[in-house]
Amino acid sequence: MSTLTNPFEIARETLRLLATRRTPPTPDNYLTIYHEISGTKPVGAPFPEKQLRTLAAALPKSSPDQLRLARQLDEAVKKENWDDFRSSLGDFVANLTEMQKLSWAQLIGDLIGQWDAKHIGLTTARKREALEHVLAGAGANPETLFNRLQNLMKSWGEGKENERGEEADVPALAEPSGTPVAAVALVPGKANNLLPELRELFAFTLETAIATQLLESPPLSSDAKILAGDIRSAATPEQLREFLTRLKRFAFKLELLAEDQAELRRSLLSLLRLLVENVTELVLDDHWLHGQIEVVRDIIGQPLSQRTLDDAERRLKEVIYKQSQLKFSLQEAKSSLQKMLAGFVDQLADFADATSDYHDKIEGCAERISSAKDISELGTVLGEVMRETQVIQRTARNSRDELRSTQAKVKESEARIKELESELASTSNLVRYDQLTGVLNRRGLEEMFDKEVARATRHDTLLCVGLLDIDNFKKLNDSLGHSAGDEALVHLARVCRETLRPQDTVARYGGEEFIILLPETPLDDAANALARLQRELTRKFFMHDNEKVLITFSAGVTQMTPDDDQTSVIKRADEAMYEAKKSGKNRVVSV
Ligand code: GH3
Ligand code: MG
Ligand code: MG
Repeated sequence: MSTLTNPFEIARETLRLLATRRTPPTPDNYLTIYHEISGTKPVGAPFPEKQLRTLAAALPKSSPDQLRLARQLDEAVKKENWDDFRSSLGDFVANLTEMQKLSWAQLIGDLIGQWDAKHIGLTTARKREALEHVLAGAGANPETLFNRLQNLMKSWGEGKENERGEEADVPALAEPSGTPVAAVALVPGKANNLLPELRELFAFTLETAIATQLLESPPLSSDAKILAGDIRSAATPEQLREFLTRLKRFAFKLELLAEDQAELRRSLLSLLRLLVENVTELVLDDHWLHGQIEVVRDIIGQPLSQRTLDDAERRLKEVIYKQSQLKFSLQEAKSSLQKMLAGFVDQLADFADATSDYHDKIEGCAERISSAKDISELGTVLGEVMRETQVIQRTARNSRDELRSTQAKVKESEARIKELESELASTSNLVRYDQLTGVLNRRGLEEMFDKEVARATRHDTLLCVGLLDIDNFKKLNDSLGHSAGDEALVHLARVCRETLRPQDTVARYGGEEFIILLPETPLDDAANALARLQRELTRKFFMHDNEKVLITFSAGVTQMTPDDDQTSVIKRADEAMYEAKKSGKNRVVSV
């Protein structure tokens, strides 16, 4: 075949061959036949660099593997190397399908796990609602479904119980587009309104609930207020993320503060304990202080509660007031005694002066008598002696009377001082408490009753009242003596305190009658508590002269109603107690 060189002839021959070979007249086929006829080689087609770069840029790069493969594709484009590009693209697609498979498996596993887990404020019904919403909203697009489900799982994961400190660094509140996925999922149709509401709620909590609790730590309190401002103005995911970081820092500071406060409380208590122990050593002979120290020792010996602190404060205040009055009277009595003694000493001094004067004068008279020349001179001297003697007799009598009355006054003052001192000592054993048994007396009961009624009303809880009266106590007194009777009362009061709960009140109402207040207790439980007390008394015998003495009681128990006052409820308990006596004693009757 002759080689044509004229381009027109080559073109004509090419068209002829296209027709005779029945080859489709495409530009590529034309080019191939053209080069065949002219005997030339086709010039390489231009590498579609721009298009391939656009394609590579559009591929996802969400994992290190994908990033690596995208870089390989870029290199292949740069080198205009088809083979590299083809194989990198193949790898990329394979990786993508593998990834998708893996993530779906993970996502479904995650979904099952989160469905079964407990979330704060998220019921199964609400989960179902959210899930249905996501399923319906994704349409036929698996990628959208995947992303939304993943976000949903993230938002559930953050509400999980017992996972404090493990929250994700980035709040899953919004997709990159700014759509609040969690909110959409939880409350369909209210997506755009809920987030600001939640933010406001959060800010409100920080400002009121948290900042006000931190008044003693001004920097933290103002931190809480600043955070409230931050969450109000945080609009973008970026700002939310920053807010979360600051919030975590704040929470950490709060934890430190709580630890500091606990430490402080521990140190204060141990300091108080130390003080109390040492004060007791120092003031062994100052009896009036002992009762107060006992009170403090009691308080710090039991777990601190508002109830015990209130009681202790009241008791201490009363004792302090009473004691300050008594101390003042004592001071007065002592100073008047001092004045009397001082007056008496003055009297003695005057008497001494008067007698020494008398001696001088009598000496002078004696000289004059011995040198007297006649009887008339003697008469004048004797008259003088008589006068002086009468004066001294009067002074002596006055002094004796003064001495007697001072003696009487001193005795009186001493008695008063003794009385005041013993009263002072006994006030330490506290005025609201029964001197014999140590439980509340009637006055103490009245106050405690008021407090318990107020508490029950405030918390809408039940309050029961029991009244117990020792059986045949007169007989015990008669057979074992009055002081054994006293000891029996002390024993009963102790068993009551040991058996009943710390929040129950035991008070001595009369001679051998006690009242028990049982807060937050239904009537049946109150009756059971008294029956338990009866059983305890059959185990913890009262010992007298090494003999076991069984003490029993009859009791009435009733529940306080809104129409009751102290008198009416005690009357009802008393009537029930009387029923118990009538029906054979040693039993509990509830009404
Ligand atoms: P009942 O089973 O019916 O209650 O008979 P009782 O003997 O217990 O009742 P009563 O009311 O007849 O007697 C109560 C006695 O308690 C009379 C009183 O002398 C005695 N008593 C009251 N207060 C005290 C006290 O402080 N010490 C002592 N030892 N006895 C007291
Ligand atoms: Mg009685
Ligand atoms: Mg009795």
